[in-house]
Amino acid sequence: MYLKSLELSGFKSFAKKSALEFKTPITAIVGPNGSGKSNVAEAFRFVLGEQSLKSMRGKRGEDLIFNGSTDVGRANRAGVKLVFDNRLPVGKAGKKLLNIDFDEVSLERVVYRDGTNEYLVNGSKVRLKDILELLAQAHIGSSGHHIISQGEADRILHANPKERRDMIEDALGIKVYQYKKEESERKLLKTQENIKQVESLRREIAPHLKFLKKQMEKIEKAKAVKDELVALAKEYFKREETYVKKTKLEVEEALHAPEREMKELEEGLLEAKRMVEAGLKDADLPPEILTIEKKLSDTRNKKDNALREAGKLEGEISYIKKAIEKEEKSLAEAGSQMVALREVETLANDAQIIFEESDRESTLDALKSAFGKIREMFSKFIKKHKESASSGTMDELKEELRELDRKKKSFDADLSEAKEGERKLLSDYESKRKEFEKAKDETREAEKEIFKIIARQNEVRANLDKLKVREREVHGDEKALGIEMREVSALAGIDALHFKDVRLEEGYEERNIQHDRKKHLERLKIRLEETGVSGGDDIVKEHKETEERDLFFAKELVDLGKASEDLRNLIEELEERLNAEFREGVVKINTSFKEFFALMFGGGNAGLKISKEIKKKRMAEEGDMEEIEEEEPEEGIDIEVSLPHKKIKGLMMLSGGERALTSIALLFAITQVNPPPFVILDETDAALDEANSRKYGDMVENLSKHSQLILITHNRETMSRAGVLYGITMGKDAISKLLSISFADAVEVAK
Ligand code: ATP
Repeated sequence: MYLKSLELSGFKSFAKKSALEFKTPITAIVGPNGSGKSNVAEAFRFVLGEQSLKSMRGKRGEDLIFNGSTDVGRANRAGVKLVFDNRLPVGKAGKKLLNIDFDEVSLERVVYRDGTNEYLVNGSKVRLKDILELLAQAHIGSSGHHIISQGEADRILHANPKERRDMIEDALGIKVYQYKKEESERKLLKTQENIKQVESLRREIAPHLKFLKKQMEKIEKAKAVKDELVALAKEYFKREETYVKKTKLEVEEALHAPEREMKELEEGLLEAKRMVEAGLKDADLPPEILTIEKKLSDTRNKKDNALREAGKLEGEISYIKKAIEKEEKSLAEAGSQMVALREVETLANDAQIIFEESDRESTLDALKSAFGKIREMFSKFIKKHKESASSGTMDELKEELRELDRKKKSFDADLSEAKEGERKLLSDYESKRKEFEKAKDETREAEKEIFKIIARQNEVRANLDKLKVREREVHGDEKALGIEMREVSALAGIDALHFKDVRLEEGYEERNIQHDRKKHLERLKIRLEETGVSGGDDIVKEHKETEERDLFFAKELVDLGKASEDLRNLIEELEERLNAEFREGVVKINTSFKEFFALMFGGGNAGLKISKEIKKKRMAEEGDMEEIEEEEPEEGIDIEVSLPHKKIKGLMMLSGGERALTSIALLFAITQVNPPPFVILDETDAALDEANSRKYGDMVENLSKHSQLILITHNRETMSRAGVLYGITMGKDAISKLLSISFADAVEVAK
């Protein structure tokens, strides 16, 4: 006893809430035509998840909702609730009817006017799929083999082989494998779609990944160059900084001495110049020296004059002396008055000397004086020679001689005085001159000092210039270092500037090694620039992400491949199980079918046969979007009958009653193999005559041992087998009403 109750509200003609309780193995529902009995059978279909509206005699979901009558308004929803007793039968171990951990399970389905459906299990909303799975395990699946609608008794006979197979699978409770298989196939299809999707995604990122890999190679190469550059730059910077500092210090120190010297030389030069400025020059000859020079000249003139006069007198004296001698001789010889030529020459010479002296002075006075002297000299000469002719001449000559001697002595005295004066003046002059020259020598020394200082200044300046050149060079080096540091850090990162801790081996290094280092640095810079990789960090990040994505896809493909393999295996396994159990079931059904058939017809033979039909199936090949057709054998069920004493072999040739009996025999045989918890038969017995009605009644009773039966019937015989009878009536309000009635009432109601 599994079925507990059925509750209808707003479902078709059941406008008001009506409930049927199933307390006995056989429940019969009776009532006049059109009262709503079949609506009850459809309510079962509905609540069990039937999706075919046609099988519930509707076109739209709305058709299942009470549509109102002249007296009562229409309902907005139709609901049916079926309650199962889900306890294990007393004393029986095994499975619960529904695989759910509740002793009582209510299934409920509601449809609204907009066509939406709701499914509930014990009041909780579930999906249709959940309901179907739950029921499939309890052999009450959607094929409805256990709900035989009015006029559908021979549905199984009408059905095609494939539909029959579905019914039998459902009845055998192996539909669940079919569902699982279909679900696995759906999953497989989905998995294959996923594989395609993942493959396409992987294909999509492949070129980008390839590009990123190439970029990464470049970055790695660039990184090697960069590392080399940074290492070299650090050493270069450290050495250059050390060199610049050291050289600057050296130059600074080296500049001290020459700069100091230069300053001193400057001061010395100023001093020397000042001395020269203040010292004596030729033009500064003192006036006393000039006075001495003038006196000296005068004295010398006097000396020369005295000397000349003395000489002249000496000549005259000598002449007079000779004249005296001659007079003495002529006196002696009484001689003629002859003037000797020598005397005339002497006179001319004297005149000449006088004239030359006056000429030297070049003054008119001197000339006048000379002329006077010469005239006096000639008059004297003439007088002398006149007198000489006389006897007094001798005396005159002697007198003249005395006069001349006296004059000469006076000149000699003048001469020696002049000489003495000259000597004194000369000595004075020389001492004064010496003093002056000495003073002039000091100035000259100062001048020499100036030249010396200038020469030294030139030397020191040359040295300073050299040092300044070095200073400028080292400043240039310092500036170049700054530029280099900026360039390298911009190109290879700030790390290159952290060179303070770089340790250099001790000892002197040739500067050209550092120059070579710089050249190498430049080459590395160019190489790094040539790699042309910018935004390195972004590419590394993107490459990492893309590679991870690719790996994820690859892993996903492996997982999906494995999943699809598992699904294929599962499908194969399910197919095998389905086939095996199906074949087994068919064999069992056939045994019962034969028996029931023989019982109903009093002989004959009937059986089910598995048939194969080749069906074309469209499917898409893996990795190809083009669909291809594939032929696939589809198994169905054929029914073979042979009536006793008749040569009828095909189903089509049976009468209505015979068809009803055959289908009843088959339905009962099916239920015998794997009895469903309940069976609803809606006027299955309609076509039976009295004798067959009894046989039918017997079989029904037999069947009720395994399944609860709900029989909708007008048949008295059938009613008599029911434990509980429900009568359905419909009044003027066009609403079905339900009432529990007795057999006698039932017979009455059913009329
Ligand atoms: P029979 O003995 O002749 O087979 P029955 O008792 O099985 O009759 P049903 O076919 O169950 O009768 O009931 C049909 C009745 O239900 C009809 O009167 C029909 O008008 C009514 N009906 C069907 N759908 C609706 C609906 N949506 N709203 C109201 N009434 C409905």
